[in-house]
Amino acid sequence: MSQLPPVLTIDGPSGAGKGTVSRIVSRRLGWHYLDSGALYRAVGVAASWANLDMSDAAALVRCTFDTKVDFVEGEQGLRVLVNGVDATDELRLETAGAVASAIAPIPEVRAALKERQRAFRREPGLVADGRDMGTVIFPDAPYKVFLTASAEERAQRRHKQLKDKGVSVNFDDLLREIMARDARDAQRTVAPLKPADDAVLIDTSGIGIDEVVARVLDLIPTSGA
Ligand code: C5P
Repeated sequence: MSQLPPVLTIDGPSGAGKGTVSRIVSRRLGWHYLDSGALYRAVGVAASWANLDMSDAAALVRCTFDTKVDFVEGEQGLRVLVNGVDATDELRLETAGAVASAIAPIPEVRAALKERQRAFRREPGLVADGRDMGTVIFPDAPYKVFLTASAEERAQRRHKQLKDKGVSVNFDDLLREIMARDARDAQRTVAPLKPADDAVLIDTSGIGIDEVVARVLDLIPTSGA
């Protein structure tokens, strides 16, 4: 039907495994990868660097247009440069996620990022991970997945991830932050977190990454899975 390269959208709440699954699946398929959350985080981090008032929507919108974000594959994996500065580690912090989710409801910020995200759709295909990939950015994507898991399980995974990176956080605080972020993402009026009508729902609670990857690859005829 469409002449455009195929897209697999992987949406879901924070900590459902989207990032890990998307990276593995994109590698297996040999497709490009879009970590859309990193764009929102990058704008948030750039706004923090510039000491912007997080309630000044106009300044945040200007910041969105002005912030240059580059994804660079290097020896240490995928690095994210914000205005030329490697901000990969800072972007992963919960504080960066919280700032991202505070600016994400601003319609002009989302609009400013729309075409940038769509530009990632190139041959031979794209795996796009986020909250509104299947609903707003790539509504015509032939393959759509929505990953979920209980808030406790997601907080546990995030806790382990951060611990492995040497970042120590209190589990209860993390769980509270994750639940607050989910509520904000799901309740906002513009592009709220919800599965596309044609998305395949996968609850990742209690199942390993390999199994999730296998189920996702099963949806793609070319994957040979
Ligand atoms: O996926 P990640 O946790 O990096 O996203 C950080 C925040 O950015 C999310 O909590 C959400 O508020 C926002 N976001 C969004 N739409 C996307 C991706 C992320 O609103 N497509």
